[in-house]
Amino acid sequence: MERRDFLKKSGLVAAGAVTAAAGFAACGQKKEEAPKTEETKAPAVIAEKKYEWRMVTTWPPNLPVLQIGAERFAKRVAEATNGRITIKVFAAGELVPALNTFDAVSAGTVECGSGAAYYWAGKVPSAQWFSAVPFGFNPQGINAWFYGGGGLELWEEMYAPFNVVPRPQGNTGVQMGGWFRKEMNTLADYKGLKMRIPGLGGKVIAKAGGTVVLLPAGEIFTSLERGVIDATEWVGPLRMGFYKAAPYYYYPGWHEPGTTLEVIFNKKVYDDLPGELRMILDAVAAETNLWSLCQFEAGNGAALQELITQHKVNLVQFPAPLMDDLRKLAMETLEEEADKDAPSRKVHEAFKKFKEQVGIWGTVAADAYFNVIADKYKLKS
Ligand code: CA
Repeated sequence: MERRDFLKKSGLVAAGAVTAAAGFAACGQKKEEAPKTEETKAPAVIAEKKYEWRMVTTWPPNLPVLQIGAERFAKRVAEATNGRITIKVFAAGELVPALNTFDAVSAGTVECGSGAAYYWAGKVPSAQWFSAVPFGFNPQGINAWFYGGGGLELWEEMYAPFNVVPRPQGNTGVQMGGWFRKEMNTLADYKGLKMRIPGLGGKVIAKAGGTVVLLPAGEIFTSLERGVIDATEWVGPLRMGFYKAAPYYYYPGWHEPGTTLEVIFNKKVYDDLPGELRMILDAVAAETNLWSLCQFEAGNGAALQELITQHKVNLVQFPAPLMDDLRKLAMETLEEEADKDAPSRKVHEAFKKFKEQVGIWGTVAADAYFNVIADKYKLKS
């Protein structure tokens, strides 16, 4: 038996090159039998292996909630592990380009990454269902799927062939429909429209005759301002300044009703960790997932109000007939996308089944409630 295997099997793999005496002092069963001298009451210190990791993200430096959330994740992992795992975070382009994040983690170039699953659609088509599905779940529904409905296990299964482990690490809440340089009245207005819109929502726009452009966050504003694109969707109302480049702000975000952000780990790196460290990573990811949703939810109302009163933005609801058309198109698109590969079909069927189940409750309990209180909250013009 190799020494490494022996150490692993005997549960001492983290002890490394420590002395046998220190090893025994750290071992739970042995400690109970030892006499309660001052020496044994002192904290048992073993030379635990330290992990110095790098994380690459798809976000520009300092982007609120998203990049800041990734940095917060790293910081809290370091705190919760008492420094056993430290993660140096690199924003998009600092180490690898934004859209190479998945590949870098998959190859083990870096230990972990942060972004959104739909960015990897070209490589893992089924990934799209784990970030945002048009006319799909809100945050409550998608989290119910991940943590209570088998969604996360399915996500793990889809990433496993790429040597990647996913965890939900954020949620944007229901997004807005997007910033447009012209009015959108019917489906025909999408013909020839160049729009930055990722994921399955983008596939719907393409089916409507639009041209989909996939741009990382840092390149959107300039492209919109210069007319390289005619429209963009984006998670929050204010911070990117899109109102300066496109006058119409449409809602609701039918294409991303509760987008999940992810932290991804190189599978070998993750699997080789001691169990308690894996548990800490999972717990901090889940806590960051909640934190980010709360950041968006807490800030969006005031930001929207500021757009209306200070920046005089045209806030426009998509006309109901257009929504109906987009919804029909979305349902067709989802089936077509699911037909493209077996994993996508598997995920889509599981998603639909769970949506049906959650929808029964949501329609009766949540929707009716929100309809009752809806008129109590009005924007000031
Ligand atoms: Ca979005």
